[in-house]
Order: sequence, then C-alpha cells, then structure tokens
Amino acid sequence: MESLPRPRLDLLSQSWRFRRPPWLGMVQSSRGCPYQCEFCSTSAFWGHKFRSRPTDEVVDEVRSLGIRFLFFVDDDIAGTPSNTKILLEKLIPLKIRWASQAGIGIAKDDKLLSLAQRSGCRHLLVGFESVEEKSLEAVHKRQNKPSEYKELIRKIHDYGIVVQAAIVMGLDNDSNEVFQKIDYFLQEAEVDIVQLNILYPYPGTKIRDRLQKEGRITSKDWSNYMLAGVNYLPHKMSQQELYDGYKWLLEKKHLLRGDLEKNFQSPGVGAKRRHHPENESGPAPKLPTDSGHTQYDSTSPGTCE
Ligand code: SF4
Repeated sequence: MESLPRPRLDLLSQSWRFRRPPWLGMVQSSRGCPYQCEFCSTSAFWGHKFRSRPTDEVVDEVRSLGIRFLFFVDDDIAGTPSNTKILLEKLIPLKIRWASQAGIGIAKDDKLLSLAQRSGCRHLLVGFESVEEKSLEAVHKRQNKPSEYKELIRKIHDYGIVVQAAIVMGLDNDSNEVFQKIDYFLQEAEVDIVQLNILYPYPGTKIRDRLQKEGRITSKDWSNYMLAGVNYLPHKMSQQELYDGYKWLLEKKHLLRGDLEKNFQSPGVGAKRRHHPENESGPAPKLPTDSGHTQYDSTSPGTCE
C-alpha cells in the first residue's frame, strides 16, 4: 500500500451523523484481515489479505495532521506484529495518544504491548464477540478462547491501556442464558468499556448468505441495520428475547460506557487499577478546551473541518 492518497476528510458533510470529534485524527496503517469470521463485514469489504502501509508514510501522515490524539482505523493494528513494532518505535518521539482496534492476540506479545504503551496507546477496542467457545467456533472465530480472556485483559491493563470489549449477541449457539454470562464476564474481567451488538447480517458477509439460504432474513429495510432491531430469526431464542436481552444489558452496563476523550487523559477503570510502572511515559497532551480547532490548520486537506 505504497503512496496511498490521503483521505479528503474535509469533503465530509458537517451534518454527517458519524463525524469525528475535531480533536481526533483518523489514520489507517493497514487493511484486510486473514481470518474468516462469518459475520464480519470489514473483511468482506477490505479482503482477507493483510496489507500494511510503509511505516514512514504513516508517520508522515500523523505528523502532517498536527493532532496529538489519533484513532488508527485498522481492523487489527497488530495484524503483522513485526511491522507494527517498527511503526510504534517511530511513533514514540511524536508524543501522541492513540487508540485502535486489535485482536486479543496482541496481549500475548509483551514487546508489542510495551511499545504500544510507550508510543501513546491508551485504548484498544478488542473483538471478543462471545463468551461461549461453541458460538465462536460456529462463526469460525477460533482464534478467540474465552478461557483466556480474563488473563489477557489483565495483561493489557498492566500497560495502562483501556479495554473496550465488542460483543455480538444472537449467534446460533446463543440461548437466552447468554446475557447473564456476558454480564458476569464484563464485571469479572474488569472490562472498561463495552460495545454491545446484536448480530447484523450485512450484505457481503458469509452469515448473510447462509441465513438467506436458510430463509431466516426477516428484514431488508436498511434503516433497521443501524444498530437497532433484529433482522433475522435467531436459532435458540425468539427475536423479541434477543432484543429484550440486549436492552437489559445496555441498561445494566450504563456505568461501563466510558469515554475515549477521558481515556486519553487517564486510564480507565481496570487499566487504572493495574497501572504498570513502565507506563509513565510523560504527562498526557492537553485536549483542546474550546472547539478543538487549535492544533491544526482547519482549511487543509486531511481534516474534516
Ligand atoms: S471479525 Fe475481526 S478477526 Fe474476524 S475477520 Fe473480521 S476483522 Fe478479522
């Protein structure tokens, strides 16, 4: 992915409902994922071959943004650990704070976690997806082992990094007991932030093809696919039971809904409790206190203001 054109974020409409906060830069250092998770829409979009951008180009883009707070919009920032380590070494002198998405495998590599922490990582969104091994096997996410989750979360916390857990409900092995199990896991493992999702059989995914063949898709109204509603027939519970369980967890977990902005300034719940001495990489840069336009040229391409 050499010489990738930079995204013209300035072209995004101000009214775009998912626009980023002005103090947060977005950079992509890699695309694709070699895994075959049945529900995954991002690998359907970016493909199954993992590709990294040259690390110097990524660092140049970060520098040019002039923003100290970044989200790397990679599907897995640690997809090729050797390349990620080179990138993180180069990010250390920039004294930024960053967040990204990563597979839980990142927690098995201490060198990677240490470099992530030293380069300013404060927040990782990890796709745990399910606390049921059978559910994970059924959707071909075999790289995740629920029996390892707690220990691996603890390791990420050891480096002062907040863990945001992405969970999917309504997989074929999920019965209406799954909501209690998720609740127990989130509390026991001291997850800082949770992203709860009902399964969405998006077009292009393997799970949509399968559910379509099985006659289980119940809605093609795309407005129902915006993180609300159940658009297929679950296997071991009714649509209503799935929706009610999801709502029950959402309400129960309101205290766990953290804030990316605050995490850049100080570690979250679990991470704070296990703050590692090696984490003291200097004070966090201050977030803008006004509209956030202070740290970069608001007219240049590469910003959305
Ligand atoms: S869910 Fe994550 S690990 Fe699975 S294919 Fe998608 S990006 Fe890869």
